[in-house]
Parts: sequence; structure tokens; C-alpha cells
Amino acid sequence: MNAEIIAIGSELLTPFRQDTNSLYLTERLNLLGIEVIFKTIVGDNREHLTGAASLALSRAEIVIFMGGLGPTEDDLTREAVADALGLELRRDPEIVAGLERRFAARGWKNMSANNLKQADVIAGAVVLPNANGSAPGQWISGKYEGEEKIIMLLPGPPHELKALFDEECMDRLRAKLPPQFMATRVLKIAMMSESQCDARVAPIYKRYTDVQTTILAGAGEIQLHLKTRAGSLEAAQERVDRLAEEIEEELDDNVFSDNGDSLEQIVGYYLQMRNASLAVAESCTGGLLAERITSVSGSSRYFLGGAVVYSNQLKTAFADVPAELIEKHGAVSREVAAALAEGIRQRCGSTLGIGITGVAGPAGGTPEKPVGLVFIALASEKGTEVAERNFPGDRNRIRFFASQLALDLIRRKLM
Ligand code: AMP
Ligand code: MG
Repeated sequence: MNAEIIAIGSELLTPFRQDTNSLYLTERLNLLGIEVIFKTIVGDNREHLTGAASLALSRAEIVIFMGGLGPTEDDLTREAVADALGLELRRDPEIVAGLERRFAARGWKNMSANNLKQADVIAGAVVLPNANGSAPGQWISGKYEGEEKIIMLLPGPPHELKALFDEECMDRLRAKLPPQFMATRVLKIAMMSESQCDARVAPIYKRYTDVQTTILAGAGEIQLHLKTRAGSLEAAQERVDRLAEEIEEELDDNVFSDNGDSLEQIVGYYLQMRNASLAVAESCTGGLLAERITSVSGSSRYFLGGAVVYSNQLKTAFADVPAELIEKHGAVSREVAAALAEGIRQRCGSTLGIGITGVAGPAGGTPEKPVGLVFIALASEKGTEVAERNFPGDRNRIRFFASQLALDLIRRKLM
């Protein structure tokens, strides 16, 4: 079965609020093997909402409305969905009584009349109690223009929506579905271009016509999302696992995670496994690498710390980079990166040292040292290796790329 989710609220069309509910619902629906084929966001406008409802009913088997169930003028979901379905709204005396009890329990004297709107139920709908708020949800299952549809009206506040969906809708949906299960797998790949990656894996995943493969590319990281459905969870899992295995074999050590772990987590595992410690001296990344490493709980077991050495003076003072070296080669150079890594490693007494120096831009580039040029050095007992890259993009992207490559160098070193 497929579904359309309609998020309702004018605030969701501003730069200040995001529709996060649909992400939650999509995850839950996918667990049941239901695919979300459309997501729509509509402002608090009855005509627009009725139009969106009619369109959704014409193209999806399950239509979920969320938001706009409150007591205020701009809460129009019940009315608009009733319009689209050509059904009446009926005031439910039990809900009215419940609202009155709710008000009395809080010691509020007079319930304003607009609250009664929340007791309006579309003819034929099942009322879904809302344990965390005043507006109940509604479930409608029946024919619309000759086709079976399932329609849900859910409250907008995320904590109400989640609880209500899990408690009232999951089992109802399960009962309507043929037994079908969805399995997913995410492979994460570091420091490879999307085209390079796809050229190698497309011939493999194209053979798995029953598995949906999606490529998501970010700065220095590609994710391959694999998804399939089958009659049992084991059968579905077996298919995605087999495809994942074939892809991992092809991409070899470019794949750093197949279970959702981030690159910083993987680096943490390796450092612990090898009983190794790490210190960093960062110039152009300004602490971003340290921030990413310490975002992992337990990182104190392997991360000693380091220094943000933005000025030449501090490169010398905190990481023992000889002033003459900076003078001779410039702060952004292979030699200074190596000296940063070696210096911070010595200073901190760590197994590994990282030095990063580069031109993050947008200002400061020269023909010899353009914006995006970054040197990353990794020092160990056995010596120092330096990677040189010209990263594309804006300041944030270049800095993120640099931290990503640094993490990947550590990972490869310890693998
Ligand atoms: P409503 O039910 O429309 O009165 O929404 C109540 C509150 O829930 C609003 O303040 C919204 O910010 C929040 N909300 C509504 N819809 C969503 C959504 N799709 N994702 C996240 N928050 C939402
Ligand atoms: Mg609203």
C-alpha cells in the first residue's frame, strides 16, 4: 500500500518551522511496508486544504492529515476533509463531555465555545483518543470514488501525534495490510565522488530489481540506502544484506559503516580497539574536527585534546612548529601540516597526531594557494603522511571536507 502525508499549518510554510512529523510517520509506515509516495504541506486555508485532500484521495490509498485539529479559527482540517469526502460533520456528545471534564479538572471555569469544534467528527469516523491533548484524532476507512481508502486526522503537536499514531493507528493499519515486511540497510562511503561510486555499484544494484537503492551524497560522504519488502522480515533482510555484501565487496575499504554509525563513531571504535589515543592541531577547521570527535560519547577514552592554532604565533607556541618553517613554506603547506601533527603528538603524548592547515576562503586565496587547498597530516610512531586536496564549495563545506578527510585518514591508518 502507499500513502500520502499532508502537513497542515501556515507556520510550516515559513522559514521558522519545519514539518518533522512526516519524518516520524514515514519511518513508522515503512516499518509496516507502506511506502510514502507524496508529502504535501498546506497552509491554514480551507479551500487549499480541500483541494489538497481531494488530490491526495485521488492518488494514494492511505491519506494522513496532521495539524489543524485545535479549537482556533485557523484549525480547519475537519471541515476541509469532510468537504473533500462529501460527508457531514457531527458533534460527538462524548467528546464534548470529555472536553468539559478536561477543563474542570484544570480548574478552568468557562470553556469557550470554540473548543466544541474539537468534538466535530466526520460521519462514519472512528474517534481516536488523544492522551496528551484535547483534540482527538479520527480514522476513516471506506470507499472514495469506488476505491478503498484509509484516512487519518491526527493532531499537530509532535508528542501528541507520535503517541496517538503508535497507540491507535499502527495496529489498525497492520490489520488492513497483507503480511509484508520491509528491511533496510544503509552503507556509508567516505571521500568518494557520487559518480565514481555509482559507476561501480550501479551494475550490482541493477541486478536486484526487488531492492530499491537510493544514493544520497553529502560533503565527503555518500550513503547508499537499500530497501526491500517481502512476506517475512527474514526474507526481506536476506535480500538487502546480500546486496549490501556485494556492494561492500566491490567498494572494499571505502565503505566505513553498514549499520548507521557515523565516521566519528567508527574512528572511535578503531582507536579503542587499537588502544590508541589522538591529539589534533587545527588551523582552518577551527576545532571542527575536535568537535566531531567529542560528539561521540566515551571519546575521552581515546581523544586527549589538542589546540586551535589559527595564528602563526600559536602554531609555534602550542604545536612547536618552527617559525622559520612557516616563514619558508607559508602557513598553508605540506611542511607546516606535518609539523603541526608531529608537534601536537609530541606535546600531548598521543599515539596519533593530526595537523590541518588550509585556505577555507572565500578570501585569502592566491594562484599558488587557491581557496579550498587543504593539507592534512597524520603523525604516528612510524612517521608522518600528508594528504593534499583542493576541496570545492564554500567555507563551511571546505572545512567539513577537511574534517572528514582527517577522520578518514585515521580510519584507514587503523584499519
Ligand atoms: P496544530 O494542531 O495545527 O494547532 O499544531 C500545533 C503545533 O504543532 C503547532 O504549533 C506546530 O508548530 C506543531 N506542528 C504542527 N504540524 C507539525 C508538523 N508537521 N511537524 C512538526 N510540528 C508540527
Ligand atoms: Mg495549526
